[in-house]
Amino acid sequence: MTLQTTGYSGFNGVSHHKSGQINLPVAPKCNIQCNYCNRKFDCLNQNRLGVTSKVLSPQQALSYLEQALTLQPNISVVGIAGPGDPFANPDETMETLRLVREKYPEMPLCVATNGLDLFPFIDDLVRLQVSQVTITINAIDPKIGAEIYSWVRYNKKMYRDVESARLLIKNQLKSLTKLKEVGVAAKVNSTIIPGINDIHVITVASKVAELGADILQCLPFYNTKEIVFENLKEPSAEMVKEIQDATSKFIPKMKHYVLSRSTALPEKTVDYRPYIAVGSLEGVMINQHLGEAERFLIYGMNDNGKSLLVSVREAPQAGGGEQRWKTLAETLKDCRTVLVSGVGNSPKKVLNSHGIEVVVLEGVIKEIVGGIFSGQELQELMKRSQIHTGSSNCSGTGKKCG
Ligand code: SF4
Repeated sequence: MTLQTTGYSGFNGVSHHKSGQINLPVAPKCNIQCNYCNRKFDCLNQNRLGVTSKVLSPQQALSYLEQALTLQPNISVVGIAGPGDPFANPDETMETLRLVREKYPEMPLCVATNGLDLFPFIDDLVRLQVSQVTITINAIDPKIGAEIYSWVRYNKKMYRDVESARLLIKNQLKSLTKLKEVGVAAKVNSTIIPGINDIHVITVASKVAELGADILQCLPFYNTKEIVFENLKEPSAEMVKEIQDATSKFIPKMKHYVLSRSTALPEKTVDYRPYIAVGSLEGVMINQHLGEAERFLIYGMNDNGKSLLVSVREAPQAGGGEQRWKTLAETLKDCRTVLVSGVGNSPKKVLNSHGIEVVVLEGVIKEIVGGIFSGQELQELMKRSQIHTGSSNCSGTGKKCG
């Protein structure tokens, strides 16, 4: 299943950690290509680092929301996000919003988009009482934009270079202006890409503030393999802070952003195991068999004792017998526990011999991981969260544990 909840930040700049946003991934296609995006993963503009969502139909998304709300009643915002852009998939996006609004008349709705195709749908978003639209605007100078975007597809036509960036920026700013005319709260995301738009983000802040944007979130560029920018460095924490401080002169900044390497807890040595690894398809539930997980979500604890996603780590490729599990043990050497929905005997043995406990269960990550960090008993957590453990060690096919 393919849902993700995140902390939700309201426009007063206060983080509402107690409320959660659930993102419904009904939008597979994208209408632009950002040079920092690897389309194997969800849209990076929506803070979904390393998450790969399976696409749901609008009806499936509604059913999953219903289920998720029974497991996690504190979900208080529903977003349409990823894996591509909502308005590159307008039928699915609008249908999902309609279904959710019909079933949950009071539920706050939000959408995050690159803004290329947003404008024609703004009136409908108002009718559906969408409370927040986020547009990612990385540049307002088309020459800088041309370095960030490879192409833009608009009205079935491909655009490249400065022409593509000019078109995208024009549509983004037009949509932002209209959102404010019709009274929809508008958040702007900007990705700080060192050497490309770092200083320019301050100009972006000034422009979007002039157009009435309510809040700006400056996100550090996140480097991953197989992207045009794979040789670019991520911005340092100092650079991010400097830019956030400079932009906040024009427009309120978000008080936090989700998961960047520069905010991640430091990596420690073998004997220091502050983390918990989780096998999850979408980042909400523990629902992956150890042998089927392509990556693990790594959770740590912040200074306030709350659990925090600190990184996403690739699992070793299938095959290779015992060596595969030794490699996994090395990858997770700073984790004390792995939470998965199933595991074969062989990997369990190898991980145990490297000091990593393997716990088989299914449930909501936030509750289980948070509970473990706050010292609660697993049995107790399982009872309260309606979680079930596998009756045997392995609840999967076992085929992938070779
Ligand atoms: Fe990727 Fe950019 Fe499209 Fe988001 S808008 S899916 S980051 S190409």
